[in-house]
This record gives sequence, C-alpha cells and structure tokens, in this order.
Amino acid sequence: MVKVYIDPGHGGKDPGALGNGLMEKNVTLAIGKKVRDYLINDYDFVKVRMSRTTDKTVALEDRVKDANKWGASVFISIHINSFNESTSGYEDYIHETLSTNSIDGQLQDALHEEIIKVNGLRDRGQKKADFHVLRESDMPSVLTENGFIDNAKDAAKMKQTSWIKAVAKAHAKAIANYLYNQGDGKMKYRLRTGKFDFAEDLVTAKKAIKENFNWVLYEVPESLNWNPGYRIITGAAFNSLKEAEEAQSKLRDTIPGYAVYVIEA
Ligand SMILES: [Zn+2]
Repeated sequence: MVKVYIDPGHGGKDPGALGNGLMEKNVTLAIGKKVRDYLINDYDFVKVRMSRTTDKTVALEDRVKDANKWGASVFISIHINSFNESTSGYEDYIHETLSTNSIDGQLQDALHEEIIKVNGLRDRGQKKADFHVLRESDMPSVLTENGFIDNAKDAAKMKQTSWIKAVAKAHAKAIANYLYNQGDGKMKYRLRTGKFDFAEDLVTAKKAIKENFNWVLYEVPESLNWNPGYRIITGAAFNSLKEAEEAQSKLRDTIPGYAVYVIEA
C-alpha cells in the first residue's frame, strides 16, 4: 500500500498569500482535494491522508508530525506564490541539503515534468530551500508553488475549475508514476518479499530496509483472507537482472528468515 500525504498550504487563521480577490489557503485546498480524488479514483493500492480537508488552522509542526506518524511514503505540500505583481510562473522545491539525484529529487523531476505540461505557467525551474515541511518530514517530500496569486494572469488561471483540475491531475499522475516506477519508467525489475503475518514484523522489516536502501517501498495485501498478511515490494529500481539479483542477496541479509524474489516491473 502506497501512502501519499497531501498538505494544502495554510488554512484557517492563516490565509497565506493574497491577491486578485483570491486567498492562497482556498486555492491550495481546492487543488489538494482534487489530487486526493484523482489518486484514489485512478490508481490501485494508494492511501491518501491530508493535513486538512477544510478551512482550518494547522501548525507546520503538526502537519509533519502527522505525516511521520502515519508512515507516509511521500509528502506533497501545495502552495501558491506571491511577490511583486509582475513576477509569474511555477516552481517546486526539495530540501536544500539533498542532491538532485536523491529520491526527493526524482520525485521533484516527475512532478515538475507533469505539472509544467498542463499549467500554462512560466517555468521558473526546480529549486531547493530549507522549508520546515521538507526538512522535518521523514519521507521524500516536495513543495509545489503553483503560480503567483498577485499576478493578474496567473490568478486568472487559478479562478478556473478546469485549471485546478488539470494541475491536480498532473500532481496525482506524477506521484503515481513515480511511486510505481521509482524513476524514469524504464526500470525492468523490482523485489518482492515473502509474506509478513504480523504487523510488527512488517514494521521492523520496512525500517531495516529503509535504513539500508534508497528504495520506495509498497505494502501489498495478500489476497488469501484466511491468513491475511502483507508483502513488501520495492519500486522498480533495477535495470538489469544482475543488478536486481545483487540487491536480492543484500535484501536477504537485511531481513533474514524472509524470502526475497526478483519480479518483473
Ligand atoms: Zn504558501
């Protein structure tokens, strides 16, 4: 099961950026709820949790704590920019300490590519910053800044439901593509573990794998309902069978007692 945490920026007493009759908190919530809907309706094995689904005040600390406690696979924070009325465009951020090749960087690549295709905004590039939600979240995290609310042209787009939907769908598509393929979609192999019958064994195994490898992990429920359990599947991280088999042997050492299979992506 892939767990996607969606964080619509601001809310309640904190309106965020203001301009052209719009409040950032309302635009981010509209996009965030649509991202959730697209993920749930269009993809399998996805669970979505949001930092807020209504116009309420939520502290930054609480958003990240909630995502960490839930064990999110990825954290996506949605924002709208503002500056000097003439500046316009789309940009996204990963934490400043991370390389562009990191998992976060790959997720940022996926989001940037899909979103810029449909939003009709100037491309301001992929950036890095020390934002709280990027720094404190335990999982790959990206923050998107979807246009400038104080720029008349950008704001006009934000007022269109079709734009909100297109931007949300692009977020969902990028997140799903990224999570299922973990990378460029050309990877051919992934690893699957044997079945974990007890939740605590699953948690321990996931923790050990996360400490040792830079892989996206999914929990896949076993269909045999007389003895429910979960298997762990990695993102499609391997290009060749040789690479996958080397990883298989390392993974066997990491979770002794469990089978590890190489499967085609
Ligand atoms: Zn904001």
